[in-house]
Amino acid sequence: MRSLEIIDLAFRILSRYPLCDYCLGRQFASLGYGISNKERGIALKTIIFMDAHKLIKENTEEGLERIRILSMCNHHPSIKLLEQLGYDKPSTKPCFICEGYLDKMRFKEVASKIIDELKEYEFRNFLLGARVPPEIREREDIIRSEYMVTTGEDIKEDITREIGGLIQKEINREIEYRTPEIVVIIDIFSNTYEVQVNPLFIYGRYRKLQKDIPQTPWYCRECWGRGCSKCNFTGREYPESISELIGGPAVELFEAIDFKFHGAGREDVDAVVLGSGRPFVLELKHPRKRFIDLKILEEKINREAVGKVEVLDLRYSSRRELRLLKSSSPLVSKTYEAIVEFENEVDGEALKKIAHEMSNITVDQWTPTRVLKRRADKLRKKKLYYIEAEKIDSKIAKFRIKAQGGLYVKELIDGDNGRTKPSIMEMLGNKPIKIRLAVLEVEKIENHMETSKRENDTVAR
Ligand SMILES: [Zn+2]
Ligand SMILES: [Zn+2]
Repeated sequence: MRSLEIIDLAFRILSRYPLCDYCLGRQFASLGYGISNKERGIALKTIIFMDAHKLIKENTEEGLERIRILSMCNHHPSIKLLEQLGYDKPSTKPCFICEGYLDKMRFKEVASKIIDELKEYEFRNFLLGARVPPEIREREDIIRSEYMVTTGEDIKEDITREIGGLIQKEINREIEYRTPEIVVIIDIFSNTYEVQVNPLFIYGRYRKLQKDIPQTPWYCRECWGRGCSKCNFTGREYPESISELIGGPAVELFEAIDFKFHGAGREDVDAVVLGSGRPFVLELKHPRKRFIDLKILEEKINREAVGKVEVLDLRYSSRRELRLLKSSSPLVSKTYEAIVEFENEVDGEALKKIAHEMSNITVDQWTPTRVLKRRADKLRKKKLYYIEAEKIDSKIAKFRIKAQGGLYVKELIDGDNGRTKPSIMEMLGNKPIKIRLAVLEVEKIENHMETSKRENDTVAR
């Protein structure tokens, strides 16, 4: 007779604490499958009602008492029966736990407002959450501990299941727990909700075709962005930035409210970036669109920033990949091209020696003099994979340098007064007077074992 235990427990709870169908049913949520808590609550009240009616027919006082208890919980059939039997209608009480806030009409009302708002966004998946005031949880806890209820579930589940069901009927999208594109937090108790649109991530690489464009906005050193006579009231040291040239068109196209640009390291303002470019992840905040063909974005950026910046290999990305990109700075290798003009004529034989002796070595580098003001003076040991050198004029040589991320290449060339060892200046015994640097490639270091092996082969040949 185990089923009677459930009915008996339900009745004992109701006789002390009036509960609505949802809140009664929720105490037995783990029993039965494919039915809602409301259905559980109705079923339990119906059985108690039928049993009570049987007792009344048998002329037992107990039956009438039970009908009165159900009536107090606003159980309509019980109220009707009491009236039929000629008794006064007892005063009903609101649900002890939710005070009547769990209510089908209320659910419908909130759901339809959410549906209207969600229609403004492109998304594949979402997640619903619910905010529940602590006093409601406390009241439910009182019942659970007093009656040792072990089959209940959180009241949140009721709210999100009921409203989620209504929303899903209109806009059928996946429920995503780990990385939802949209999160809706419902507060049924204050009849409000909040739509959080999670950012969209786009991975790509950029080439910087022109010098003097900083990666991120560079504010005027005098006024820090407020605008002064020195910066012609622009507040800026440079009018444009790579991040804005890439992020601006994306914000427009995806109808986002803002963006954040994450580069895999950065080059000097006066260096260009060529070759396969520098990786970045663009984070778009609160986008309305998510399904745009990235070819369209690529064309838009490249058209609007023509001659300055070029993006390539755009694809949709994730916060996970962004974390990887951010943490990988010493874990990347970079390939540079440097065109260097020297004080004296370049010795071709010495150039060959550089290519030979400066491959697969570790460079000792004290913090460069030019950044000492901003950085602590410390010794860095960075891997130099190879240098290829070619004389292109009597005093001019071209170098291709592949090194571990974080190695200061300018100092590798000019030696920084002996603070970087070895250096090209030292090897050649010739002072560089003009250095033009370009980044050709940025690669993750996972490949570097393989690449440095291949580089070894090249040197041997
Ligand atoms: Zn309730
Ligand atoms: Zn200024």
